[in-house]
Amino acid sequence: KKLQIAIDGPASAGKSTVAKIVANKLSYIYCDTGAMYRSVTFKALQNHIDLNDESAIVKMLEDTEISFAPGNPVQKVFIDGNEITDDIRTPEVTNSVSTVAALKEVRSILTDRQRDIAGKGGIVMDGRDIGSAVLPNAEVKIFLIASVDERAERRFKENQQKGIKTSLETLKKEIEVRDHKDSTRKVSPLTKASDAIEVDTTSMGIDDVVNKILEIVEN
Ligand code: C5P
Repeated sequence: KKLQIAIDGPASAGKSTVAKIVANKLSYIYCDTGAMYRSVTFKALQNHIDLNDESAIVKMLEDTEISFAPGNPVQKVFIDGNEITDDIRTPEVTNSVSTVAALKEVRSILTDRQRDIAGKGGIVMDGRDIGSAVLPNAEVKIFLIASVDERAERRFKENQQKGIKTSLETLKKEIEVRDHKDSTRKVSPLTKASDAIEVDTTSMGIDDVVNKILEIVEN
């Protein structure tokens, strides 16, 4: 049977890295819902739309197509057919995305699209509210966590490879601010679903986390 696998957790806990590998191993579709919120934020910024102007963003989103294609090391993301894989990972987008993600109507539109993508199963979907709101009936729900120091460290190393020079201290603060915004918003905040299995990845390698999840899937 093809399952729905939901992977949630705070920023930089390694969700997308392991979700993509798990999906490949199972020959399932992978969907990075954070990339969808990032894409909306990127397009709104580009069009100089006020990020608190919900009706303007919704109007824009209704005419916006967000799509994915396989890619390495990250899945490729397209908005209206144009590739924006790297554009949605800039500090500007990262630090603005939680504002857009707090908009009720934006969440409702993206949630519908995510349920369409998930279909009846054969999906690994990562985000903040997948197990709690998007796919409440998912057979497997994982909640990935790691200490904030470890997460900042991981992001720092990732940034180094991209030539981004934000300090470890700043990264740590940015992660804490984003987690706070994501867990305190009114609509579908970042929460561990009651039936989710928590995995603390602080001292685990990527392979360990992948194997742990596959073990959970098989049981
Ligand atoms: O996973 P990633 O860090 O790329 O997500 C970017 C942002 O998108 C999160 O900080 C959050 O504000 C928003 N998001 C969300 N719900 C999801 C996935 C992401 O609100 N399911």
